[in-house]
Parts: sequence; structure tokens; C-alpha cells
Amino acid sequence: MITKKEEVLDKLESGEIRLFEIEKYVDDTNLATDIRREYIEKEADVELEHISKYSIDMTDASKKNIENQIGAIQIPVGVAGPIKIHTEKEDIETYVPLATTEGALLASVNRGCSVIRHSGGCNVSILSNQMTRAPVIETKSVLEANKLKVWINNNFDKIREAAEATTNHGKLLKIDPVAIVGRYVYPRFVYETGDSMGMNMVTIATQEAINLIEKENDIHVIALSGNFCTDKKPAALNLIEGRGKSVNADIVIPREIVEKTLKTTPEAIVEVNYAKNLLGSAIAGSYGYNAHYANIVAAIFLATGQDPAHTVEGSIGITSAQVADGDLYFSVTLPDLPVATVGGGTRLETAIESLNILDSKGSYKVERYASIVAGSVLAGELSLVGALAAGHLARAHQELGR
Ligand code: NAP
Repeated sequence: MITKKEEVLDKLESGEIRLFEIEKYVDDTNLATDIRREYIEKEADVELEHISKYSIDMTDASKKNIENQIGAIQIPVGVAGPIKIHTEKEDIETYVPLATTEGALLASVNRGCSVIRHSGGCNVSILSNQMTRAPVIETKSVLEANKLKVWINNNFDKIREAAEATTNHGKLLKIDPVAIVGRYVYPRFVYETGDSMGMNMVTIATQEAINLIEKENDIHVIALSGNFCTDKKPAALNLIEGRGKSVNADIVIPREIVEKTLKTTPEAIVEVNYAKNLLGSAIAGSYGYNAHYANIVAAIFLATGQDPAHTVEGSIGITSAQVADGDLYFSVTLPDLPVATVGGGTRLETAIESLNILDSKGSYKVERYASIVAGSVLAGELSLVGALAAGHLARAHQELGR
């Protein structure tokens, strides 16, 4: 008897159906996943033993998170901490799950958490929550371009009403800046998105707003995203204006702790920060005036179901260090953290478990989550800058990474 699986595999091989069409012939998503993987195993002449083993619900995942799925990958996950954080709303003490393949990263963040704990905890302040979408619109001339900008400013309430009609949680805060290049106009729609990261939300809302603008003006919408958003690319605009959650963290570390735990001095850390993070980044034309925000951001994003492509935005930011009454003042400023505790990948089972470690799953939790990301970045940054100041970096990697 020919099974459904064999029947579909035959149709795939004969070209009668295409890889993305398997679900049309098979009701069960897990079976469709198996068939697609087996087809790829045969085509590529490989065994996908490990990609085939997973426990997440592929039926759910295939609705919103993945197409053409063949299984799941595994990335080791560990914990650093506990980290101690003071915010305007609560004091947090938590272990932090980090998923990575980079040896020494967990050890490094863990060491930073220990320094933070022994110094009484770090402070974290959320500066803003604003997700952006900026279409590009063509007008007939530079005169018409400026006219459109004025029209958008004068009709903000009407535009807001149209945009907000598509969402229960999204709020259009402003359309600013509105950039103009020749006869092209780039209005940057800025939304408060609650506990969601918001990219789908603001894309849908902005489409509705654009429909209205197009109806009432003689314009041509070139693209719903004109790269002035700026999504998933490094941009000075995001550094200056902020995107996602903009977060600030700082701490004063007593000199004895710098000397005992980081095996260096506040003065050496200040010099490394100045010469490397500030001057070095300046001559490179970098927007990452820091040592390695991306390392911690990527690891916590992977563990907790954030969009990993947003690591590029999380890598933007400035580390500062000063000697204060003989102790070390140290801060990280992250203007561009697109994070969520609802929606996107946060609904995957492994993400839920990691978010639960942080007590950061669901509504009213995103500020807590963003605070933990910033605190963890502070921990990782302190540890790496400390290691560089003490000349420990090469040794740590030799012992832990090889
Ligand atoms: P989403 O999963 O598409 O939607 C989240 C939805 O959850 C919101 O729209 C909101 O519905 C609802 N919600 C329920 N409780 C909420 C709360 N407390 N706070 C806020 N919203 C709440 O997620 P998204 O955050 O809009 O977008 C994330 C996804 O976008 C990720 O998977 C990411 O990879 C993807 N992405 C998309 C683009 C794009 O251009 N479209 C670009 C980059 C990334 P209401 O709106 O009805 O309130």
C-alpha cells in the first residue's frame, strides 16, 4: 500500500508539486515537515538526524513564524547571573538565559553580573518605546514634495485615526522627521507598540495611513518601507532618534571590586573605553561605540525568541566610563532595542521557557525584559573592557574557547 508520505514524495520528485505546496496535500503539519525534510535528505544526499529532532509545535510555528519548515536547529543555552537591577518601577534579580556558540561569552557575562551584584546592582532607565516605519513617496517636484510634508503635518490627527484603526495596542505618536530628497518624501511614522516589537503592527497601520494620504494627494507611493525607518540596518538616525526600546544602564563600582574581580583599575578601564570604544569607533565610522553589545544582544535574543536580525540594531550604542571619587562609573546606552514579550518568536515554546526564567512573558512585561537586556549588556561590556584593561582577553579565549 502506498502511504500518503510516499505519494507526496513521488509527486515532489516528478515535479508535480513544489516544496512549498506539501501542506496542500497533507493536513498534518508535522507530517508535511517530515516529508519536506526527507525530500531534502534525498536531494542533497545527507542525513538530517538532528534537525529532525525538536519539541516545539510546528503546527503553530508554521502559521506565523516559518514557511517551508524541515525541522529545528539547536543552539546551546546557558545562564549568567543572577543579575541585580534597579529600575524606576521595580528591583529585579534574575538569572539570564543566553544562547550562543561562542565559548567564553557566558563566563564573561557571568563575571560582569558578579561585579554588578557585589556593587549593589545596576540602574536601568527606559527612555522611550517607539517603533518606526517610513515609506518613500514620489511627488511631481521639489515644490510638491514640500507641499506634501506640510499636508502631513496639518492632517496628523486624521492620519493617526486611520493608522490606529488597525490595532488595539498601537499608538501613532508622531510623523517625524519627514525627510525630502529631490521630489521623494520619507515620512517616518513613530508608534508606541506596547509589549510587542511591533514591526508587523506598524507596517499594517502605516499601510492604512498611506492609503489615506494617497487618496487625498496627487502622489505615487514607491515603497511602504523607504529605509528611513531604519529596520535591520545600522543607521545614525536610529542612534540619534531611537527605535524600539531606548534603554540606559549604569553603575558605580567600588575601586576594590574593580581591582579584586576585574583585576585592573578604574583608570585603565577609562583609558580602554576612551581609546577603543570612543576614538577607535570614531575613526572606523562605526555607530557601535562599544566593545560587544551585539554578543549579548544576539545571545539573549536567540534564547527568548526575538527577531535575530535586529541584533544589528542592538549593536548600536555608546559605552561611557569615568573615574568618580576613585571608583569606576560605567554606563551603556542602547538607543535601538527592538524587543517584545508578546508576538513574533516569543510564542515559540523554547522562547516562552526562557522568558519565564526572566518572569518576562506576556503583557506588561516588556519594560522588565528590556531592562534585563540592558543590564546584561552592561555586565558583558564591563567584563570585556575589564579583561582588555587587564590584558586577559587572549588568555580567557585560549582557556575557554579552544
Ligand atoms: P505580531 O506577532 O505580528 O503582532 C503582535 C500583536 O499582538 C499586536 O499587533 C497586538 O495586536 C497583539 N497584542 C496583544 N497583546 C499586546 C500587548 N500587550 N502589547 C502590544 N501588542 C499586543 O508582532 P509584531 O510585534 O507586530 O511584529 C513582530 C514580527 O514582525 C516578528 O516576527 C518579526 O520577525 C516580524 N518583522 C516584520 C517586519 C515587517 O516589515 N512586517 C519587519 C521586521 C520584522 P493589535 O495590533 O490588534 O493591538
